[in-house]
Amino acid sequence: MVEDEGDVCRVCRSEGTEDQPLYHPCKCSGSIRFVHQDCLTEWLRHSKKKYCEVCKYPFSFTPIYDPRMPDTIPIILFLRRGIRRLYGLVQIWFRALLVGIVWLIALPWATVWIWRFYFWSGESIAFSLNGQKLPNRPSDNNIESGEKKWSQYNIFGTT
Ligand SMILES: [Zn+2]
Ligand SMILES: [Zn+2]
Repeated sequence: MVEDEGDVCRVCRSEGTEDQPLYHPCKCSGSIRFVHQDCLTEWLRHSKKKYCEVCKYPFSFTPIYDPRMPDTIPIILFLRRGIRRLYGLVQIWFRALLVGIVWLIALPWATVWIWRFYFWSGESIAFSLNGQKLPNRPSDNNIESGEKKWSQYNIFGTT
């Protein structure tokens, strides 16, 4: 049996060596399944085909041109791409969140405090111009009692 004597290249009919190992790039079986990398690329260049003429299996070019490439690299690349895409999405969402915080929380808050400062500074200037001390802000109790007095006065005034 010829096949038992060793696998040979389907193009040049010689065995694989350490420098030129035999590859099994398609779904062909039997004596024609093995081929040298250089023989295959040479044959592909001449035939201008990207698939096996016998089994019609499209040749995968990455393992042919770089057979030492580990299988995990495409997964890492895929993950990297996924992470990059996820990072982009997170960035977009973070930006949207930031804009939302600025418009819904920071801007109204700043506006309120600017108006408070505006009124406070106006009061301070008015009182200091009149030579008076800025009165203490009326507490809730004072407002309540003031309203009572005012309403009592109002009642007395009308009767
Ligand atoms: Zn060969
Ligand atoms: Zn084939």
